[in-house]
Amino acid sequence: MSAQGRCNCGKFAFEVPPLQGIAICHCKPCTRAGGSIGSFNAVIPADGITFTKGSLKELGNYQDTETSSGNPMARHFCGSCGSAIISIPKGSPIGFFKVSSLDDAQAYIGKDRKPDQVIFQNSAPDFVKKLDWGEGVKTASEA
Ligand SMILES: [Zn+2]
Ligand SMILES: [Zn+2]
Repeated sequence: MSAQGRCNCGKFAFEVPPLQGIAICHCKPCTRAGGSIGSFNAVIPADGITFTKGSLKELGNYQDTETSSGNPMARHFCGSCGSAIISIPKGSPIGFFKVSSLDDAQAYIGKDRKPDQVIFQNSAPDFVKKLDWGEGVKTASEA
């Protein structure tokens, strides 16, 4: 299903298409960008967001070069309130949309849906490292 979301200040509002996968990332740039223990990403087409307020071009855009692959990642965020919206690897057809900005993230990901992968788990706090994600969830210390 698609879903609606917005940044904290409401300058940007949008609808996202159904997710293709869920990737939780605990890398340092993700935790810095979100002020959190990790980012909760839905894999969607890079141009998949339909904006009802603002546009992808109007979002703040930081070229993150501290990626494990060395391929830059464009981190898009609201320049007014700082909410992280989507990260798009350079030249990639897919983007990592921040599920946390949705009005109802649980409804979007679906009942009992587990992440497909949890990456940079070595950078997560100890209590997260100890989590048992269950069968079928790929965990890794790198991307
Ligand atoms: Zn905002
Ligand atoms: Zn990350």
